[in-house]
Amino acid sequence: MSGDQLHTLSIHAARKLLHSRELSAHELTEACLERVDQVELRLRALLTVCADSALAQADEADRELATGDAAPLTGIPFIAKDLLCTRGIRTTCGSRILEGFVPPYDATVIERLLRQHAIMLAKANMDEFAMGSSTEHSAYFPTHNPWNLDCVPGGSSGGSAAALAADEALFSLGSDTGGSIRQPAGFCGVVGLKPTYGRVSRYGLVAFASSLDQVGPFAKDVEDCALVMNAISGQCPHDSTSAPVAVPDFATFLTGDVRGLKIGVPREYFIEGMQPEVRRSVEEAIALLERMGASVHRDVSLPSTKYALAAYYIIAPSEASANLARYDGVKYGFARRLATTEESVNATRGEGFGQEVKRRIMLGTYALSSGYYDAYYLKAQKVRHLISEEFKRAFAEYDVLAMPTSPTVAFELGAKTNDPMQMYLSDVFTLPVNIAGIPALSLPCGFAGGLPVGLQLMADRFREDLLLKVGHAYEQATEWHLQRPSL
Ligand code: GLN
Repeated sequence: MSGDQLHTLSIHAARKLLHSRELSAHELTEACLERVDQVELRLRALLTVCADSALAQADEADRELATGDAAPLTGIPFIAKDLLCTRGIRTTCGSRILEGFVPPYDATVIERLLRQHAIMLAKANMDEFAMGSSTEHSAYFPTHNPWNLDCVPGGSSGGSAAALAADEALFSLGSDTGGSIRQPAGFCGVVGLKPTYGRVSRYGLVAFASSLDQVGPFAKDVEDCALVMNAISGQCPHDSTSAPVAVPDFATFLTGDVRGLKIGVPREYFIEGMQPEVRRSVEEAIALLERMGASVHRDVSLPSTKYALAAYYIIAPSEASANLARYDGVKYGFARRLATTEESVNATRGEGFGQEVKRRIMLGTYALSSGYYDAYYLKAQKVRHLISEEFKRAFAEYDVLAMPTSPTVAFELGAKTNDPMQMYLSDVFTLPVNIAGIPALSLPCGFAGGLPVGLQLMADRFREDLLLKVGHAYEQATEWHLQRPSL
């Protein structure tokens, strides 16, 4: 492979070259940094590039590779969403309110990757506090979709998705509270996995909605996704919500064989108003899996799905209103100092938070307030229970469920910024997963108008193995995941 194409490598291809010493971590890191220089002015996916520390980590990785006993991700450059705490490197959450905040510690996922001598190249742009579906709510700048620079990359992990689709690194990390990994993965034509609630530690992940948030990978293909999951999964002593569940070697499930697996297709995910090409691509993907030997059941119904959006927009803002109460300018971040504490806090929060974040704080505070709690928050929790029970029944019957990741492909920048309801609707197909705490995968399955379409697969709690198995088999039979934007 010629030196100017190194950034296009998958993890599994790069790993072979690194371990056989045909390629050095230094060369690979330089290739990615050059790619960043080449595309970043147009893409704007990154908030911070850590060139010096990345090259130092690369040299360290090369020493490790020389021992002949290096870990699977040694020497592999990655990009982290800017809500993962990184020691000594500013972490903004896409917000002004964290201005100047430099964490004194690494998030567990970052620590686990660095311990393997993976290389942290940059921090990615995002919607402020992960609230949004387009990355236009970043306090800094919007990110562009590498397939069409006039379109959004999705959100809230739009920077991580766009950066990977443009080959700025070999994988990236995002977070998914209501679709923020899967929706941008779908919009940018890469693989994105939202793990089971509890599968991956959230220590050092800045909280948005704690009963929904999960960290997960973006990868160029399913095999790479499995390799990253191997590295980041597992219980962590610093996160009491991380589950004491054994982590298998996810790569062992990638057999290419789906014979005998039962795939359910819930009709609530094929709605009026979705883009016809999206429906067609996803139906073709499902038909292909059927020809490959899976049994497909198209009569599945999850009737409470229609309440998921409303329940999510009570639960997530309620939790956000509590989580974001800590930003008062007293100990860190952006601060206005006025005559009294009250004036100072009001000015700090008033100027430090963007509009969408304020909208969520107000919605959540209202939903939790005395007299309204039962009508909104408690009701939403009851709906949450119904949705979870429906999934449980479905997974007693089917191994995975298949549907589109989003009802449309990426929309134009600015198309939905003045209409929050339209923006929220972009997540109708992804929110139920977070409400139920189950895992789901998005992978490329076609194009509409030159923009990628995402196929979504859902499975029961801690059954990421099934998602990866089916996703990988699908990739073996198709070439969608190999398509690259020309930038
Ligand atoms: N777009 C959804 C929201 O704005 C989900 C965001 C996310 O998953 N972080 O809340």
